[in-house]
Amino acid sequence: MLSFGLEDRIAVVTGGSSGIGLATARLLLRGGARVAICGRDAARLEAAGRSLGEEGGCERIYMHCCDVLDADGIASFASDVATRLGPADILVNNAGEGRVSTFAGTDDEAWRAELELKFFSVIRPTRAFLPQIERSDAGSIVCVNSLLARQPEPHMVATSAARAGVLNLVRSLATELAPRRIRVNAVLIGLVESGQWRRRYTAQAAPGETWEAWTSTLAEQKGIPLCRLGKPEEAAQAIVFLASPFASYTTGSFIDVSGGHSHHV
Ligand code: NDP
Repeated sequence: MLSFGLEDRIAVVTGGSSGIGLATARLLLRGGARVAICGRDAARLEAAGRSLGEEGGCERIYMHCCDVLDADGIASFASDVATRLGPADILVNNAGEGRVSTFAGTDDEAWRAELELKFFSVIRPTRAFLPQIERSDAGSIVCVNSLLARQPEPHMVATSAARAGVLNLVRSLATELAPRRIRVNAVLIGLVESGQWRRRYTAQAAPGETWEAWTSTLAEQKGIPLCRLGKPEEAAQAIVFLASPFASYTTGSFIDVSGGHSHHV
């Protein structure tokens, strides 16, 4: 049987309680890894852990309630992962959400909050888990980024700018960590069905409009060549490939998961 080399690896997924993070945690478990997830909402985290446990066995999962922006919270997450599962081999920096606002609608405080979320959701977990990942012979970090990093949208001005910076950071991290045999890559997500889009559907859909109809109209309006939004599992497949030893000669790179929505060659 084909193996991605994940058996008994320890993988950490920030924001693993919903959407792309949860799908990634599930796929890593299926590949044989032991998985730690974090999120801020304890009830949601618990529910995610239960559903993962039914599939992968409770002893192969660890859940930790924390905010990735909280340095102390992330430090204790890292130390608990090492104690309960073992030192991490893989870190998936996934936690976060986008901010819908134009330049006119984004004040200084909103800019600071968005830049802090996008940068420190990578910086803090990476710093906290690096001493563990350095000990691995298959160390790998994957950052869940957005197509906005290369294709900014005016209605998400702060998110787009911050995402471009994070793509740049991934490249620098890859260069700095390559001599230590740690690979650093990213995925650029277009529009993937997830908690974020479910929340927007609830807020914006016309009375009686189904999720299927709303997402199909959205895909058409956006001009997505594959004519639909992606599934969290489809993002997870790209993330897990980059995270795994199957991508052993790939670093400082990214995979586009946008259904052909990117206009770049
Ligand atoms: P979801 O809302 O479904 O999941 C987000 C996850 O991140 C949840 O588990 C959430 O849990 C957690 N989270 C959010 N903020 C924090 C925080 N500060 N600390 C710890 N955990 C946090 O969204 P997606 O699956 O769509 O998003 C995953 C990533 O993909 C995000 O970074 C998002 O920006 C990015 N992305 C998604 C796109 C899409 O179309 N879906 C497009 C482009 C990028 P909790 O709220 O309980 O903390």
